[in-house]
Amino acid sequence: MTEIVQFTARTLVTDKPVPFGAMIVETKTGKLLLKGLNAVAKENDPSSHAEVRTIRMACKKLKSPSLRGYTMYSTCEPCPMCMANLLWAGIDRIVYGATIDDANRHCRQIHIPATEVAERSDMTCEVVGPVERDLAYTLFTHPNMLRAFKAWGNASRSKHVSDNGKRAIA
Ligand SMILES: [Zn+2]
Repeated sequence: MTEIVQFTARTLVTDKPVPFGAMIVETKTGKLLLKGLNAVAKENDPSSHAEVRTIRMACKKLKSPSLRGYTMYSTCEPCPMCMANLLWAGIDRIVYGATIDDANRHCRQIHIPATEVAERSDMTCEVVGPVERDLAYTLFTHPNMLRAFKAWGNASRSKHVSDNGKRAIA
């Protein structure tokens, strides 16, 4: 987790800072396959979340649509789109840092926990987190990141999510 947080933190001093980074390692050995960052703004692609991009790059590198035998570490809990992609990829495990609620203090989110997406799937993927949550959350509170969130102009409309993860009825 520390490694992917540090990797992601490098963007904080650029003109396109992002708090979202992901890396894929071999489950058995922990050997790094590759790392990726959110590139929604860079690529003008709303699906270019860190997890989806990293899965795409990993599958291309492996020349396989399957990531069985691999584990992803992500600085943030995967959104439903990313969690679905992880399940379709058949990855063994996802380990995340900050939670969707943490991210939602700064940007819009879809309020379905990664565990729920996994539970409602025919595929299996172990969901582990939050791990090193405070460390991962520092990515969201860096002054440059806070400025960028304002420019994103999409802070959460305040319907909803409390710190304990329970969604209040809007
Ligand atoms: Zn996502």
